[in-house]
Amino acid sequence: MSDSSTAEGEGVNRAFAAQSDAETSSTDSAFMALALAEARQAEAHDDVPVGAVVVRNGEVIASRRNERELSGDPTAHAEVLALRDAAMAVGSWHLVDCTLYVTLEPCLMCGGAAVNSRIERLVYGAADMAGGACLSLYNVCDDPRLNHRIELTVGVEAEAAGALLKNFFATRRS
Ligand SMILES: [Zn+2]
Repeated sequence: MSDSSTAEGEGVNRAFAAQSDAETSSTDSAFMALALAEARQAEAHDDVPVGAVVVRNGEVIASRRNERELSGDPTAHAEVLALRDAAMAVGSWHLVDCTLYVTLEPCLMCGGAAVNSRIERLVYGAADMAGGACLSLYNVCDDPRLNHRIELTVGVEAEAAGALLKNFFATRRS
């Protein structure tokens, strides 16, 4: 990540934070705290700290973290793993009434997986100006050409999620 993209990202995060003041509920913050706790565990296996939980009717039905390095699998992003676990828990790929909480804005693959799972809501923390597909570079959550749209809430605990990533990369650079 270049310095300029970081500065841009922070600008977007500030804009997101302003939006989130009005929209973020304490419930969203509580579930995001669980996703952040999951993200922190990814550092133990040298994976970029991103965490995701899926909530249905107020209950956490899946909680996963990025395992790309751990499993050597390019698709092992926290969101994909969490959606798979959620589908197992629900007994269907069709994740109606589910909300996906993720610490970082989903990429194209994960945004696509979210659309394909038909989740109702997506809540994320930090924006990803380098690869975000849910507002930053693309918005697959709200594209009239697709057959499903996802309600989006952004910037929830964005500072904590961003700090986690910043520290991870800073430690590895030094
Ligand atoms: Zn992803």
